[in-house]
Amino acid sequence: MLDLLAVHSADLIEVVGSDHLRSWVSPSVQHLLGYDPEELIGSSVLSRVLPEDRAVLEELLQRCADDPNEPVRAEYRLTTQSGRSIFVDVVARNLLGNESVAGMVLTSRDITERVQRERKMFDAVTGLPNRVVFLDRLDAALRRASNDPNYLLAVLSLDLDRFKVVNEGLGHDAGDLLLHAVARRLESCMGPRDTLAHPGGDEFSMLFEDLSDPDDSRKLADDIHQALSEPFRIAESEIYTTASIGISTNVKGYDEAAHMLRDAETAMNRAKSAGHRHETFSTVMHIEALKQVQLDTDLRRAIDREEFSVLYQPIVFLSSGELAGFESLVRWIHPEEGLVSPAEFIPVAEETGLIAPIDRWVLNQSCEAGAGWLGEWQGPKPLWFSVNISSTQFSRKDLVGYVEQVLQNSGIEAGQLKLEITESAIMESPEAALESLQGLRGLGVRLALDDFGTGYSSLSYLHRFPFDTLKIDQSFVSRLGQPDDQMGIVRTIIALADNMGMDVVAEGIEDQAQWDILSELGCLYGQGYYFARPLEPRDALQRVRKPRFE
Ligand code: C2E
Ligand code: MG
Ligand code: MG
Repeated sequence: MLDLLAVHSADLIEVVGSDHLRSWVSPSVQHLLGYDPEELIGSSVLSRVLPEDRAVLEELLQRCADDPNEPVRAEYRLTTQSGRSIFVDVVARNLLGNESVAGMVLTSRDITERVQRERKMFDAVTGLPNRVVFLDRLDAALRRASNDPNYLLAVLSLDLDRFKVVNEGLGHDAGDLLLHAVARRLESCMGPRDTLAHPGGDEFSMLFEDLSDPDDSRKLADDIHQALSEPFRIAESEIYTTASIGISTNVKGYDEAAHMLRDAETAMNRAKSAGHRHETFSTVMHIEALKQVQLDTDLRRAIDREEFSVLYQPIVFLSSGELAGFESLVRWIHPEEGLVSPAEFIPVAEETGLIAPIDRWVLNQSCEAGAGWLGEWQGPKPLWFSVNISSTQFSRKDLVGYVEQVLQNSGIEAGQLKLEITESAIMESPEAALESLQGLRGLGVRLALDDFGTGYSSLSYLHRFPFDTLKIDQSFVSRLGQPDDQMGIVRTIIALADNMGMDVVAEGIEDQAQWDILSELGCLYGQGYYFARPLEPRDALQRVRKPRFE
């Protein structure tokens, strides 16, 4: 009977006595370990096991010998004849008392592939399961919940704030240590049936099961913030971290694990951008997320259908009101929605990578238009053209080459092109930005730091970057002339910029009073609706022909 079953099985079946010697071995040993069954009969079952795993097998045999009723189970590694090791899942049954067998029967199944697959499912830095495993567990939890309407789940998606700063400032090893330490703190906030995973980067996903109240999820988020608030000691430094957390619960029901996780991530992004510690996913966010997808689809189409145009806003000398340059501002005419503001579509384009073709198109358009107007320019100083370039472009190696090519094709002087980069872009990855900025500087292109005062950069830090121009954000300008207008800050910015050899453009000038104050403070250039709105190319050309503002 045993023979019949065993001869055809892919599993390795061995019968061993209480002395651990093999009395029978199934033919499948040939396929699994490369031996003939006869070669192994009479040898110890411990002979093919890896030395490190020997104790596991010894214990298995002991447990098996102790209990004739219950099969016992273990996993360990065997060495094949060629020296390879394989993982086996082994079930041992005590049939010593059975006359026809008179031994312990070990059935070994090769699980090498599964083990290797599982290893890939764990992240080496934190030792936590990855996204695939997390979704698998969430899926199982949702199935439990579908049978029991009171089975409440919460998914928390957590993203560390400013992790990049640690990684770049203290090195990747310190970054890894921090992630490891954060993982341990998060574990301390979780119960035995909850799941913590590390899908990558500085993100963590957490699944909490069987909550008693949906509000518990917010309490959990508070506990997590609390647990992370103690500093971490890493590489001789004390590191303080904060995190943004997004929450989704299955109160309204989810069919798919991926959707529940996605919603927690959407809420997390919302928390991050709003500067909140945590945020719970709501239907409103879902609708907004869908809108973004729609916007992305429409944007892709817009590039092919040439739905973009460029407007040119004059920049003037504040001393005389005379034209000094133009800033190119992109416009998108959506076939159904009409005019869509760049503030709305540029962030989406940046996220999806569509910003590259848009920025390049605007750059081309501006240089071509600018080259055409130069013949009509009578002013004493060379006219310049400012073009906004998204932060995401600065990590691209081909940016400098591209700009060089556009300059050559259009024929405008490098010194007449000024590229505007926002302050936050520089702070996000200073090293990558610096390389591109220096490359552009090498071409003779000029550089402006846009929206200054809204980000984190300190003026002292700016020393490292080769900027020619600093653009004071309109939020400062619009308050000038009102009580608490922070005129002191504006004065300081202008003085320090001057000290570092940079000139200053004040953005968003809307009335005479602001103009007066800024010229008094010694600000060289200004831009704003008071002088001109962003203009169609033909109106911009009129301005080139008659450059004085009155
Ligand atoms: P920005 O570069 O700081 O551009 C100045 C913004 O202020 C423009 O908004 C402009 O129309 C507006 N503005 C100018 N004068 C006044 C004023 O007196 N009062 C007020 N309230 N606003 C004024 P716009 O055109 O909506 O652009 C918004 C932002 O979108 C820009 O801010 C820039 O960061 C980005 N952007 C625009 N075009 C492009 C582009 O081609 N590529 C990239 N990457 N970003 C662009
Ligand atoms: Mg700008
Ligand atoms: Mg600006």
